[in-house]
Amino acid sequence: MSASTDIAKNPAVLAMPSPGLPKFDYVRARAPGEVSALLAEHGDRARLFMGGTDLFVQMRDGVIAPKIVIDLKTMPGMTDIAFDARSGLRIGAAASMNAIAAHPAVKDHYPLLVEAIETVAAYPLRTRATMGGNLCNGSPAADTAPAALVLEAQCVVMGSEGEWTIPANEFFLHVRKTAMRPGEFLTRIDIPIPPEGWAGRYVKLGRNAGGDLAIVGAAVMGYPDKSAGSGYRFRIALASVAPTPIRVPAAEVLLAAQPISEGLLDEAAQLAEAAAKPIDDLRGTARYRKAMVRNLTRRALDDVWQQLQKER
Ligand SMILES: Cc1cc2nc3c(=O)[nH]c(=O)nc-3n(C[C@H](O)[C@H](O)[C@H](O)COP(=O)(O)OP(=O)(O)OC[C@H]3O[C@@H](n4cnc5c(N)ncnc54)[C@H](O)[C@@H]3O)c2cc1C
Repeated sequence: MSASTDIAKNPAVLAMPSPGLPKFDYVRARAPGEVSALLAEHGDRARLFMGGTDLFVQMRDGVIAPKIVIDLKTMPGMTDIAFDARSGLRIGAAASMNAIAAHPAVKDHYPLLVEAIETVAAYPLRTRATMGGNLCNGSPAADTAPAALVLEAQCVVMGSEGEWTIPANEFFLHVRKTAMRPGEFLTRIDIPIPPEGWAGRYVKLGRNAGGDLAIVGAAVMGYPDKSAGSGYRFRIALASVAPTPIRVPAAEVLLAAQPISEGLLDEAAQLAEAAAKPIDDLRGTARYRKAMVRNLTRRALDDVWQQLQKER
């Protein structure tokens, strides 16, 4: 039985109305080599953190009880945000959501990402919460994940064998499971320059307007492309309706193949509904979620299509 299961089943912990944080050692990392060495030494007993808005909630609730917590945001470059007109955007894994959303280049070139970030909880939380942590946490409900998927972000990961890059589309493997291997950690999120003339939209349904995990989130981006039968290509991604955030390739293929019409947008939204494999949970039933996938995807498609037509 792992240490995390031990504490989750400990009757003394379960009897507490809100268990406090367990004792742990705190290390402020200074270099990637130091993080790799600590992860190799402590294995599962070590946990990484940046904003801590997921990690410390899980520790407080007794879900996990690491012996050592490694703070990555103090390492050089981890909070940097840089934009280059040819290569695109580079977001340090530990850059706060507020810093990303306020960055002039992000506002100018990636408004879809700003829109997604602004649906996460509330401003004070986003001062600590990072986009990197949102992706690494591996929650299907991560609000920045659909934007990362449709913007075709690349997750830059560091391990003892050096740096490698995982496309966002391959990053999420299952609930709380990412493609990062043991001992590896995210250092950066790279987002290429989106295609010329693109438009995007993130629509989120939560239980309240003041910030809640998504019942359903739908991101759509579209752009003109003469090589497509319809003259356009769309990318669609969903949050909170499958074990991981997902793209909807069947709807994307349909929208590229035939002239865009109201009926075709309806059909694409139905394909998104068909792709969703949600569960019942305290935020909504699977049946409700599937219906909301169709509605939200349709709304986002409509908004993007209208924006694209204005640009013509
Ligand atoms: C009140 C509240 C409201 C919230 N509302 C929302 C919401 O509306 N939408 C939403 O999407 N989320 C929401 N969240 C969840 C959370 O705030 C976000 O997921 C946040 O972006 C996590 O970022 P962080 O930097 O705090 O991550 P952390 O807690 O620091 O880390 C998250 C996970 O990633 C691991 N990790 C951290 N850094 C790295 C790294 N560099 N490499 C590999 N693994 C790493 C940690 O060990 C941990 O498992 C909410 C949380 C709270 C407490």
